[in-house]
Amino acid sequence: MLFSNLFKKYNLPMVFSLSLLPLLSVIGLPFYIIYNGIVWQEPAMFLVLWFLAGSGITIGYHRLFAHRSFKTYPLIEWLAMLCGSMALQNTITKWCSDHRRHHRKLDTDQDPYSIKEGFFHAHIGWILKKSQSNIENVSDLQKKSAVRFQNRHYWKISLFLSFILPALIGFAYGRPLGGLLWGGILRVTMVHHFTFFINSLCHYMGKRDYDIHTSAKDSWFMALFTFGEGYHNYHHKFEWDYRNGIKWYNFDPSKWIIRFLSFFNITYSLKKASDYNIFKAKIDTIVEKIHLLSDKNLDKDYLSKASIIIESAFRNLSVLKKLESKYRDINEGGFSKKEYKKQIKSCKHKIQKSLVSLMTILVNIKSVI
Ligand SMILES: [Zn+2]
Ligand SMILES: [Zn+2]
Repeated sequence: MLFSNLFKKYNLPMVFSLSLLPLLSVIGLPFYIIYNGIVWQEPAMFLVLWFLAGSGITIGYHRLFAHRSFKTYPLIEWLAMLCGSMALQNTITKWCSDHRRHHRKLDTDQDPYSIKEGFFHAHIGWILKKSQSNIENVSDLQKKSAVRFQNRHYWKISLFLSFILPALIGFAYGRPLGGLLWGGILRVTMVHHFTFFINSLCHYMGKRDYDIHTSAKDSWFMALFTFGEGYHNYHHKFEWDYRNGIKWYNFDPSKWIIRFLSFFNITYSLKKASDYNIFKAKIDTIVEKIHLLSDKNLDKDYLSKASIIIESAFRNLSVLKKLESKYRDINEGGFSKKEYKKQIKSCKHKIQKSLVSLMTILVNIKSVI
């Protein structure tokens, strides 16, 4: 009975392969190392291929194809398709169809990897189950030559790049099995689980500074292992922004690479949220957090202080909005552009100060209730 239910519910070949890969990584690889040692080519190949496959997913599948947060040339789309195929996470059309639905139907029962169905489901369970969703809402991608080619030859490309190529590289230095284990099995396992963590841990732990009505959370720690995708609360608020970590020091190598390539026009039309929209999201969120706590017998002092700061923040926000739109309308540089830039800077400084004060109030409120 138990087994017949498991057969009905789970895609067994998928369960088998997604169990075999980590098992071989944690058992097979250590045995190989005990008997054959490590040569420098193997960790190096592991890191290089992890970087290529990981960026194929974050820069290619995610930011380029699923969200169209920047544009590029067909040659780069082909490169992104090949690197992404190396991550063994299905075709661009299937991946993007699921991901676009995840954004549209977040936290509902139509979200393919909804955290509401539990950590395991969001992490990997949804892939192992039979009831997977249809491919939809990707007609824009199906016109692309790289996508059409991948749809026709996905398994050949992905299995070759994921396993045969590392084994061939290993063969070139006399250790095909070592190449396969390091550059193939361990590397695919790591890319898999760190991508899966975006759907599980990034909806589980971290801060919600841009939207409290979603399960998505920002975590700098997760960003370290996911090529910058850990700033997930921001990402769900502004999914079309080519950045996930918006501060220059936020660890987001995908953002840095996309921006770097834009200096050579290899990437162009990079989309990003305006400072006004970002500040507005932050202030709306902190105001909501304060209001949520304010009916808990609070000292009225805090609340009146908060409402004065909130008013001033919103006043400065509307000034910033006007300044930004005027700044955009100025075609030439020179004095007036510089002057607006100065005014925008001072306005942002005032809003930032209000934000800091509101954060202090929020911390104080939390400490007294
Ligand atoms: Zn998400
Ligand atoms: Zn996304």
